[in-house]
Amino acid sequence: MSVLEVERLVKKFGGVAAVREVSFSLGEGEILALIGPNGAGKSTCFNMLNGQLRPDSGRIRLLGRDTVGLSPRQVWRRGVGRTFQITATFTSMSVRENVQMALLSHHRRLYALVPLAARQYREEAERILDLVGIADQAERSCGVLAYGDLKKVELAVALANEPRLLLMDEPTAGMAPRERIELMALTADIVRKQGISVLFTEHDMDVVFTHADRIMVLNRGELVAEGAPQAVREDPLVKQIYLGAGHA
Ligand code: ADP
Ligand code: MG
Repeated sequence: MSVLEVERLVKKFGGVAAVREVSFSLGEGEILALIGPNGAGKSTCFNMLNGQLRPDSGRIRLLGRDTVGLSPRQVWRRGVGRTFQITATFTSMSVRENVQMALLSHHRRLYALVPLAARQYREEAERILDLVGIADQAERSCGVLAYGDLKKVELAVALANEPRLLLMDEPTAGMAPRERIELMALTADIVRKQGISVLFTEHDMDVVFTHADRIMVLNRGELVAEGAPQAVREDPLVKQIYLGAGHA
């Protein structure tokens, strides 16, 4: 069964079509990469999928249900996690409290119960922090964390929602090459074990080719190639418009 089905998605800004008739589907547990040069429309696609932008036309079905018109929060409620949104972490709270808040939200508790958060879901939060490798940072304030560790907190927050689908728009932006390779390997390991589907984009082609089951190439708002990593890598059109453009 498809986790995500996208049909003829269109988004225009003024007269310019940023995304033109994009259609694809994402299978259960599949890791799908969306690549393309700067300005190709990747972020616009992500923002339509996560509820931040409303498409001009087209259809988005998540687990068989339409999501066009839902708010980002409602999309999150349907089991879509977004990594890695720096602003989503509360810098004044500890690492563990951030994950506990996400667990409270996922389990539909009211934010009015915040004082109780210190006790609720503590063990579950610690289990998730252990999974992403930052259990030793649990008591530290997020405001003082190294950038790479903050990214892991954000991954933990996304996992607390028990997502069926993770949307990752340049998740490792701003990280050093070795760190980004590590974070993507960690993420891929976790999602594979948990059967979470992933749509991601990433500048580092080694990361893309290492972790993607399938790759789609977007150029000027249109999907121009799609297939297994090796086939996409060897596609002459892809070489010309993308890899030849200095992104390899
Ligand atoms: P990518 O993520 O692939 O680099 P984007 O989706 O950010 O590409 O942008 C696709 C095109 O849409 C670009 O030409 C960009 O300038 C334009 N665009 C994106 N967001 C907006 C916006 N909010 N208003 C106007 N134009 C936008
Ligand atoms: Mg972008």
